[in-house]
Amino acid sequence: MCIFCSIVKGEIPATRIYEDDTVLAILDISQVTKGHTLVIPKQHTENFMSCEPELMKHVMEVAQMLAKRIMERTHAEGMNVLSNIHEVAGQSVMHFHVHLIPRYSEQDACVIRFDKSDPQDLDAIGTLLK
Ligand code: 5GP
Ligand code: ZN
Repeated sequence: MCIFCSIVKGEIPATRIYEDDTVLAILDISQVTKGHTLVIPKQHTENFMSCEPELMKHVMEVAQMLAKRIMERTHAEGMNVLSNIHEVAGQSVMHFHVHLIPRYSEQDACVIRFDKSDPQDLDAIGTLLK
């Protein structure tokens, strides 16, 4: 069984900071920064793409509520909110979750980098994606 399903069921311990009928939030075991939290739908679904819209709405409401709480209580300067989809994007647990990563400085342990790529044809990409 998937590790987050086991956590939801209480078979594996986790530090729970929020829970309701459909959503659970736990501290990430790796704590990239202090307060690093995972917001998880209790029902197994693989990732951001597969989560049904009503549940997604609630996951994001909880994520926003907790992001505010974490910012207030940790005095973080900022927050990264992200969800990895598939291994190529860094997903290691195949049960949808949203990371809340409080940011204390640009030099803290969370490194998210947008390198410059070759120039792109924005009109062509726009046509593809409209
Ligand atoms: P992903 O790489 O899929 O975006 O994120 C998975 C996250 O789950 C990682 O940041 C990892 O530290 C966390 N994680 C993996 N196993 C456990 C666990 O057993 N307990 C908790 N609390 N977090 C876990
Ligand atoms: Zn699961």
